[in-house]
Amino acid sequence: MNMVLLGPPGAGKGTQAGFLTTAYDLLHVSTGDMLRETVKEDSKTGREIAEYMNRGELVADSIVTRAVIERMSRPDAGAGVILDGYPRTRTQAESLDRSLKESGKSLDVVFYFKTSEDVAIRRLSGRRVCENCGRNYHVVNMPPSKDGVCDICGEKLFQREDDRPETVKNRLFVYGESTEDLIEYYRASGLLREVNGDTPAEELFEEIKALLLKESLI
Ligand code: ADP
Ligand code: ZN
Repeated sequence: MNMVLLGPPGAGKGTQAGFLTTAYDLLHVSTGDMLRETVKEDSKTGREIAEYMNRGELVADSIVTRAVIERMSRPDAGAGVILDGYPRTRTQAESLDRSLKESGKSLDVVFYFKTSEDVAIRRLSGRRVCENCGRNYHVVNMPPSKDGVCDICGEKLFQREDDRPETVKNRLFVYGESTEDLIEYYRASGLLREVNGDTPAEELFEEIKALLLKESLI
């Protein structure tokens, strides 16, 4: 099964993707995570990507699309993927469809996380990330047992550069600009399923599972 998670920054796509990969044999493909890995390498491309990300702007389609397609062609993606943060524009959606077709694959479902702006802002501003294992926390909603320390691996938590208020605003703006087109594209294809991104994480996961069951996807 191949699915897309679509929604604004702070919608909780990454959290649901985490639940889904734990429950089913699916690969979580997060373009945000992949780009942050490239940034860590400290190459010329990495530095360019970091500039866009830190401003909350989109990284070039060609870079992102190439990375996603490459990732999806590896053996561990065989049983299916959860695309999180991709596609973000209609152009990316069209590129994705083309490349899936070329490899005899297709999308099964697109979950649209409809989320109110104040919920998204609160989630992003309180988010803390483990610098070692990437696990996400929230200072209020999902705090670690020990302040500033990862429950899983004991390493330090930090705030993402692009989770600072000025950048958050721009990320939401950039999302708003491209989203309508993208939603329409998937609505027309009949794959779009709308869920409420404001719903607490565990409850939303139950809803998503129920929808997947109903469509015989799990
Ligand atoms: P969020 O979805 O919460 O904004 P991500 O970690 O998915 O967070 O993305 C962070 C940044 O990475 C984006 O603001 C953008 O700069 C870049 N990025 C991620 N996915 C894409 C994409 N599909 N196309 C272009 N840029 C992307
Ligand atoms: Zn950790």
